[in-house]
Amino acid sequence: MALTYIGTRDRSIKATASEAILRGICPDGGLYIPEEIPKMEKSLEELGRLDYRELAYEVLSKFLDFTEEELKACIRGAYDEKFDTPEIVPVVKKGDALFLELFHGRTLAFKDMALSILPYLMKTAAKKNGLDKEIVILTATSGDTGKAALEGFANVEGTRIMVFFPEDGVSPVQKLQMNTQEGANTCVVGIKGNFDDAQSAVKSIFTDKELEQELAAKGFQFSSANSINIGRLVPQIVYYFWAYLQAVRMGEIKNGEELNFTVPTGNFGDILAGWYAMQMGLPVGHFVCASNDNKVLYDFFRTGEYNKNRAFHVTVSPSMDILISSNLERLLAHMGGQAATKAEMESLNKTGVYHAEVTEKKISGEYATEAETFAAIKDFYEKTGYVMDTHTAVAYAAYQKYKAESGDDKPMVIVSTASPYKFTKDVMTALDAKYKDGDAFALQADLERISGVAVPAPIVGLAHRPILHKNVCEKNEIKEVVKNWLK
Ligand SMILES: *Cc1c(COP(=O)(O)O)cnc(C)c1O
Repeated sequence: MALTYIGTRDRSIKATASEAILRGICPDGGLYIPEEIPKMEKSLEELGRLDYRELAYEVLSKFLDFTEEELKACIRGAYDEKFDTPEIVPVVKKGDALFLELFHGRTLAFKDMALSILPYLMKTAAKKNGLDKEIVILTATSGDTGKAALEGFANVEGTRIMVFFPEDGVSPVQKLQMNTQEGANTCVVGIKGNFDDAQSAVKSIFTDKELEQELAAKGFQFSSANSINIGRLVPQIVYYFWAYLQAVRMGEIKNGEELNFTVPTGNFGDILAGWYAMQMGLPVGHFVCASNDNKVLYDFFRTGEYNKNRAFHVTVSPSMDILISSNLERLLAHMGGQAATKAEMESLNKTGVYHAEVTEKKISGEYATEAETFAAIKDFYEKTGYVMDTHTAVAYAAYQKYKAESGDDKPMVIVSTASPYKFTKDVMTALDAKYKDGDAFALQADLERISGVAVPAPIVGLAHRPILHKNVCEKNEIKEVVKNWLK
């Protein structure tokens, strides 16, 4: 029996996996969650013999209503030479942690793990459901999703992709990666606002019935490449299993022993995928949910109060500059049920605040200030020679605090979400303040020399590529911009 997906705010809203992938979001604005989280029947010993693609099949087949042939074709298309290492996701031991390097795809951030496969999942889902419309992917990005989605969907027949990013809230490499995107079906727009503004506008477009009908008449249907789409979330479960199996292979743990994870968190998608892996049976000791100065989640896990009414900080880990973590809604629904979740989300919309009982004790919050993030990069480099990006450094600093507070000394995986080359200037400045006025691109040579890691091929020459997208709009103009592009 194929798995059914239900709404986080209303359990009578039901969909198959492929329907949920096509729609992106429930008609009432809620998110799709699996009615029951499937168990991994295969033993860790058996799984330990698989390569990344084979493991992906074992996990994804539990969540998707695809045939074996369909799913294997999606996986083959996604996890290939686009990644700069045949392992796809290396796990390396440095100092007191294992680093799960999720940044070996084309856009140098972990978003590639899911966005390399999402276009295949979506096309397969469209075929299965006899969809005759062109799919318009609307994406809000804090910097990394945008480029990864553009790479995935550029020139994919039957789709168009539109990306909204905070004009003044992404790194120079992130911005250029997006503004130089080729492909006739792509559109990139900077907004005068932050990620939360972009995400709220996009979410409201998804639930705008009038607009839906207007565009349906023109042959379009919207979907999402954000982690509100379960097609984004499910592929992320795979690498938690992978990390565990590599830790066993490396002799860090024995099969069955618990492993901890620290996850640099923004929209709560990555860490939620880890939580799903644990529900499937993966032996996890604890999850540390790491935030930067935008520490809504840290406060939430300590107090049960979620309060977005606070100053928004633009930090050196911009992909985590988020005050409304959408995927937390899914954890709330799994913990407290649909009625409570609906009330909480209404309260969030109305007042910016809600209270919930945190019954999941295996997740706790920590955060790192800007100074702590910089110090983590520098100290860790001096101790180990390994250069972390700013997001990974937030996680590492949070891990140190967690270890000191809890005394928990189980092996820790740091979920490493980006290459330091995406944030060269801040990383170099952390290593030595003399770089603070340097040019982000000129500094690549210095980073190469210091880290011993070559500049990744996808960004070589990026600074000289032609800018193809120059649109900037106000945050309340997003809907009009969408309509104009689809005229
Ligand atoms: C998106 C992103 C995050 C946050 O992940 P969420 O799933 O939104 O919690 C962390 N680090 C980097 C580099 C990212 O791109």
